Amino acid sequence: MLAGMAANATPSGAAATSGMGKLALQGGTPVHTAKWPSWPRFNQLEEKALLDVLRSGHWGRGNGGTVKRFEAEYGRLLGAPHVVATANGTSALIASLAALGVGPGDEVIVPPYTFVATVNAVLLHRALPVFADSDLETFQIDPAKIEAQITPRTRVIIPVHMAGGAANLDAILALGKRRNIPVLEDACQAHLGEWRGQKVGTLGAAGCFSFQASKNLNSGEGGAVCTNDAALAESVYTYHTNGRSRQAGGDFAYQQTGANLRLTEFQAALLLAQMTRLEEQSKLRESNAAYLTRMLSEIPGVKPVKNYGGCTRSAWHLYMFRVENEAFAGVGKDTLLKALQAEGVPVSGGYKPLNKEPFLANEFRAKFWAALHGEREMRTWAERNECRVNDRLCGQAMWLTQTMLLGTREDMEHVAAALRKVQARAADLRRA
Ligand SMILES: *Cc1c(COP(=O)(O)O)cnc(C)c1O
Repeated sequence: MLAGMAANATPSGAAATSGMGKLALQGGTPVHTAKWPSWPRFNQLEEKALLDVLRSGHWGRGNGGTVKRFEAEYGRLLGAPHVVATANGTSALIASLAALGVGPGDEVIVPPYTFVATVNAVLLHRALPVFADSDLETFQIDPAKIEAQITPRTRVIIPVHMAGGAANLDAILALGKRRNIPVLEDACQAHLGEWRGQKVGTLGAAGCFSFQASKNLNSGEGGAVCTNDAALAESVYTYHTNGRSRQAGGDFAYQQTGANLRLTEFQAALLLAQMTRLEEQSKLRESNAAYLTRMLSEIPGVKPVKNYGGCTRSAWHLYMFRVENEAFAGVGKDTLLKALQAEGVPVSGGYKPLNKEPFLANEFRAKFWAALHGEREMRTWAERNECRVNDRLCGQAMWLTQTMLLGTREDMEHVAAALRKVQARAADLRRA
């Protein structure tokens, strides 16, 4: 069935004679014509939960109990003794970095393959993000590249559990311990992900989660910090409510600088309802991802993400794979993406190298870094942050969303069939 689709796919006459043009790989009936699963999923459970908060009149955490209930339940789910809910994942990172004492002139080690929020949280504390290169096969930060980036200014290491798979926590936690540098896990994509049977986000000094609309656990916006450290949890709490500590008492007992980064009762109510669906949805993503990996592994030049042995469960927030364009008759990634999209498979090209974002270097120079550490150091920053493996990774990576992984087996077969069809056409066109 799958092979037949690829073999019967003949390019339209015009495309076949126009050489390797953009449209040459497209044409005919798309492999996938049905709708992909919708997101978010909800029913009367969410409707009732929201109405209950509405009618209670307690809409903020100050006079309601729903955020507190969510913190307790999420902590139970993860096995984390302390949880502070925040407005979003970005603010979870910002509050955690503040609690870990990060400030101007400090350095924080981050991966180049992540969402920009990981880096923005560092920049907003006027600290310098330093990039440690990626591992090509797992798409995660390469622990072997972290140590060389440590200096006396390094305050925190932030591994990101990219796509819900896990960064290599054995190596990173051991390094952090040996060099006495706290590890802050960016688990914003990794709800229910595990490292050696423990939930990611609970193994470092603290772990940050996001409940933004695209995430596997979703309240439109939302976030949380998890930690085993009671003092750190209190510090995060204080920062996230304008510097007012829980203990000091009184609405105007300011302890330190902070911001209002609180979650609302509505969001907490939604999260409690959505949490009842999380395990079942995660299981479906896992089984579809395993099925996809079996199929994609058989296509020449297609390399599904590999997870480390220690990653005993991936959250599969994204399904990532690499495409080696030599196996697609040398056709470039952007053209392949368009051809796959034309087959009804909404694949995306994923992140660009974050370490090369012009805004980064410009902001350091203009705002603070040059003033703190001099122009000379600015010039060496780009060199220091070269990430050659990540450049290659970004040139090959493709993503499917977690929502697509909630589809059927047949949907997964269509992803493989589309890749085979485009590959066969690329080969035909080279021969023509
Ligand atoms: C989504 C995300 C964030 C930020 O979360 P928001 O809730 O959108 O602020 C941070 N890091 C990573 C890796 C993410 O995917």
